[in-house]
Amino acid sequence: MSDVHKVVIVGSGPAGYTAAIYAARAGLKPVMFAGGPAEADPARVPGGQLMITTDVENYPGFPEAVTGPELMERFQKQAERFGTVIHMENAASVDFSKRPFTIVGESGLSLQSQTVIIATGASAKWLGVKGENTFKNKGVSACATCDGFFFKQQHVAVVGGGDTAMEEATYLAKLCASVTVIHRRDSFRASKIMLERARTNPKIKFVLDSAVDEIVGDGKTANGVIVKNLKTGEKNKLDVTGVFVAIGHQPTTELFKGKLELQDNGYLKTKPGSSRTSVEGVFACGDVADHYYRQAVTAAGTGCMAAIDADRWMTEHGLV
Ligand code: NAP
Repeated sequence: MSDVHKVVIVGSGPAGYTAAIYAARAGLKPVMFAGGPAEADPARVPGGQLMITTDVENYPGFPEAVTGPELMERFQKQAERFGTVIHMENAASVDFSKRPFTIVGESGLSLQSQTVIIATGASAKWLGVKGENTFKNKGVSACATCDGFFFKQQHVAVVGGGDTAMEEATYLAKLCASVTVIHRRDSFRASKIMLERARTNPKIKFVLDSAVDEIVGDGKTANGVIVKNLKTGEKNKLDVTGVFVAIGHQPTTELFKGKLELQDNGYLKTKPGSSRTSVEGVFACGDVADHYYRQAVTAAGTGCMAAIDADRWMTEHGLV
């Protein structure tokens, strides 16, 4: 049994690293599939969604703000300091049907473990309109921090009415000639402070009660958005070279379908007040199991819960 690990963690956002820090300090010698490598798929960069954000102003302990990537580097260093073994690759398959569990990485690395902590997070949603796929990375993006640089002094649009849309618009306004926020309603999910920041920015305009009908271009790159007013049905072309889609996220649960119970909205189901999933010994934390709070600090909190739950579960079962 010496090559059976006590805990394998899948995912490396705030939830995964916090679970690793707690598990390592409890002597569980955690092994992590951190995702990546970044070159293989920029959307699944190790470190999770904070890797594609700018300043994080609401993570406690950083009164002067911290960038998402710097925060994640600190999480990683802290997890490594206590002995977490990190593999920079995605998990490709899991077998929870027999114990110990098996988790296989994309490189073929196969690990066995008494417990598994799932912290695979969530990723950006797309609009699904004509032209979106054609112009992805040629004018269409879901990450202003990653791609804003390419649109310096150009006219761009941001789609959405939540905090992500306001954050992206505010960031882009620093680089671009103008930013038009396209939102399908005239009220917003965005928090007051972030909405006001965008509203008072002279470079940001709002087109409300409107949806993107199509993204158009010259065959190589995008050069406009056809916007439909949902009240009048009128269509207009907005001349923009960049379209940033900021309409929310979906949980990364592909690996677990048919193996763990999911909520109706596709997020992993956990027992109320705990990180326990429908399979004993498998725990979930962070955004993959939370469609409601979705904050770095709540993800970190549930990562801590998952490590404690895994440790106690092993103690209850005489495995440590
Ligand atoms: P969100 O709050 O779910 O907002 C998504 C927005 O996109 C909504 O305005 C929604 O419109 C719109 N939308 C969804 N599907 C659409 C579609 N198919 N076509 C057009 N519009 C569509 O998502 P989020 O902005 O990504 O924020 C998620 C969470 O992260 C929130 O809790 C937020 O507070 C947090 N967050 C915090 C920060 C920060 O504090 N720095 C930054 C980013 C995000 P409707 O309103 O009409 O549904």
